[in-house]
Amino acid sequence: MKLFRRHKHPHGPEMLDCEAVMQQLWDYLDEELSPDRMAAIQSHLAMCARCYPQYEFERSFLTALDRAQQEHSDPAGLRDRVAGALRAEGMVEI
Ligand SMILES: [Zn+2]
Repeated sequence: MKLFRRHKHPHGPEMLDCEAVMQQLWDYLDEELSPDRMAAIQSHLAMCARCYPQYEFERSFLTALDRAQQEHSDPAGLRDRVAGALRAEGMVEI
């Protein structure tokens, strides 16, 4: 069995360690990082068995949060407020 040799920077200086990836994971999910950093984190997640589950967890958490916000928003109420404002301005007759 061959020993797995670890290189610190096998693909250049943008290779990140797990700690750096974890610290930037939310920013990554919000796409608030530079394109270089986004790519570096993406490639780390693609090959890191330790970070990827955490990424999946946080991503599904954000997706659920988005969905909850959409479900709790009130499009009918908004429509009424807009219609009321237009009525007040004499724009529509209802
Ligand atoms: Zn990692």
